Amino acid sequence: MSIDRFDLAREAFDKKALPVEIPSKKMSEYFGERVFGRNAMRKYLDPQALGALLECIDKGRPLDRATADSVARGIKEWALENHVTHITHWFQPLTEGTAEKHDSLIDLDGKGGVVETFDGSSLVQQEPDASSFPNGGIRATFEARGYTAWDPTSPVFIQGDTLCIPTVFVAYTGEALDYKTPLKRSLKAVSDAAIPVCRLFDPAVNKVKCYLGWEQEYFLVDEDLYAARPDLMLSGRTLMGHMSSKSQQLSDHYFAAIPARVAAFMRELEVEALRLGIPLKTRHNEVAPNQFEMAPIFGEANLSNDQNQLVMNLMNGIARKHGFVVLLHEKPFAGINGSGKHCNWSLGTDTGTMLMAPGKDPMGNLQFLTFFVNTLAAVQRHNAVLKASIASATNAHRLGGHEAPPAIISAFLGRTMSAVLRKILEVPSDTPIEIAGKKGRSVGLIEIPEIFIDNTDRNRTSPFAFTGNRFEFRAVGSSANCAGALTTLNAAVAEQLLDFKQQLDRELSGGKSLQVAVMDTLKPIIADIIDKVCFDGNGYTEEWKQEAVRRGLDTETSVPEMFKAFTTPSSVAMFTRTGVYTGKELSARNEVKWDMYVKKVQIESRVMVRMAINHVIPAALEYKKRLLREVALYRQVMDNELGCRTELELIGRIGEYVDDVSVKSEAMRLARKRANAIEDDYERAMAYHEIAGQIEELRRPIDKLEELVDNQLWPLPKYRELLFIS
Ligand code: ADP
Ligand code: MG
Repeated sequence: MSIDRFDLAREAFDKKALPVEIPSKKMSEYFGERVFGRNAMRKYLDPQALGALLECIDKGRPLDRATADSVARGIKEWALENHVTHITHWFQPLTEGTAEKHDSLIDLDGKGGVVETFDGSSLVQQEPDASSFPNGGIRATFEARGYTAWDPTSPVFIQGDTLCIPTVFVAYTGEALDYKTPLKRSLKAVSDAAIPVCRLFDPAVNKVKCYLGWEQEYFLVDEDLYAARPDLMLSGRTLMGHMSSKSQQLSDHYFAAIPARVAAFMRELEVEALRLGIPLKTRHNEVAPNQFEMAPIFGEANLSNDQNQLVMNLMNGIARKHGFVVLLHEKPFAGINGSGKHCNWSLGTDTGTMLMAPGKDPMGNLQFLTFFVNTLAAVQRHNAVLKASIASATNAHRLGGHEAPPAIISAFLGRTMSAVLRKILEVPSDTPIEIAGKKGRSVGLIEIPEIFIDNTDRNRTSPFAFTGNRFEFRAVGSSANCAGALTTLNAAVAEQLLDFKQQLDRELSGGKSLQVAVMDTLKPIIADIIDKVCFDGNGYTEEWKQEAVRRGLDTETSVPEMFKAFTTPSSVAMFTRTGVYTGKELSARNEVKWDMYVKKVQIESRVMVRMAINHVIPAALEYKKRLLREVALYRQVMDNELGCRTELELIGRIGEYVDDVSVKSEAMRLARKRANAIEDDYERAMAYHEIAGQIEELRRPIDKLEELVDNQLWPLPKYRELLFIS
């Protein structure tokens, strides 16, 4: 039994990097070749269909059935040239991850053969029998049917032999059953709310776009070692494991040379991603051993989020080719950094203005400040639900530890923008806001530097940080669908902009200039956010927790409790006013969230108890038996135990820890039994929240045993093997 672990480690260590087939073409030549993007559209669609489709994508115009048919004909031609045999609607149900159900393109031709078919109706809408997806009671109460419907704003792509059509997933009654539908609604809400504000500065604005640039962190673990860890396989994280003597304390992994086998994986992933039109840009080693990160060039949020989902799928498949398993869990290993997915978020107009970056002139700067301040006000007002939007059973282990932001949503502005906000409160409202350095210094000016000196002012403890031309929502977990966080953020910003515009209109109707009216409207908001949501200090301290309570920020740390923020009157008002979620959808989603929480903790608890009983206790008892034999032998020969002090002490300690493990395992099993009997989703989740605490308690004696038991007898790959072999 014990030999296995060493063989596994040895074999894993000896694995060599696979050769990667690198296309002989330049990246720019194969970028997007597996996507039915604008180039393919121009080639395969007739002018009428092309025009209608572009109107639909760019302006949200509906697409009629005849046009859909002719788009489908073009897609089919492209797909067949690329040897496609199957199609699927590709959607993002509330299980997280993506879903697909493949259908072959063949149909009987009536003459004894088959023919490839694909028309507008299979492009536009399908009714998968997807009754097993979580829906929070929406489909049980109303209609069992769920539909997938084409999202033309995210291009069709080919994976392997399959044509994938990005779709929304909705109930017969229109309620959203997925992540994409609410995200799309929120994009419309924030655009609709922002346009009237933008038009005061530039009447030509017709659309406001939301941008997302995600930074995906992940771990790679050798697949053979992974397969020897039931906890990693079934729960995505190690539920036990004594800290390795060396972990990340030397920071020698961060930005270090990428190990050859990992580099081969990254290279292949990048080639595949580029083919799929995903502009991966950055790759590097992260802080923890065997932890890595990648980021694309940012893009429009809906597409960029689809690309993130797609990349997560690709990673899993490609990693296996290279003998790795990807861990997307937020905290696969205790005691070292977890993985997040920073969501870099900004807004921009269809006329090319980036609204979260300083402008070209004083009015441009005023517009920037308007969006900057309203975003912060939205985050302040809805900090509790924003936290709920990133909360999950898995992310709970990451928040508040090792460089991850704490479970309190505040905003980091950096020195420059904090100073700018304070200055605004002091100066008359007609003071121009200049770009620093371009005009001579005058006392009255508010100066915004063109390049932020402190945008590299790394405050890793802040969950929401301004980084020069965007906000970085860092609390999002590595396994999450970014849509959950973005939908909430967009809805909050949309609501805030609606309120701001109303107030601004009142100021304007009094005859004030735009500059003065905007400044007068912003000033009380600024005074408020400086006092409450803005915090540039260390988010880890005990003082901050108390200070946050005083500021009225949400400091709840229990995940099931956090979800309640979705259905408070202020959240329901925000989501319904902006058209992002109905009250019914919010309650249904909370049911799903509580249920997912329960199931995840339940799986962990079961796996852990089984490992305790099947792996840990047998190894400990085997060692104890050897020690007892040793003592017995000694007594036989020497007729005393004087030379067995160490053995006897070890026997005693092992006995105590083993007892502790069995008592705690049994207590947890009973707690699960009681919790499972609870009907109410929230109450059951709260009971499982207790069990999540028990899991950490049970871990202690197990890790102690790992420390004591003969290394030869320990059956589970240890942290040093999981983290240092790649
Ligand atoms: P870091 O935060 O580690 O410095 P990068 O500078 O590489 O990382 O940027 C992180 C991500 O932010 C990238 O995906 C990048 O494209 C994206 N990003 C840059 N500018 C914006 C913006 N205005 N809006 C949204 N995302 C952006
Ligand atoms: Mg970043």
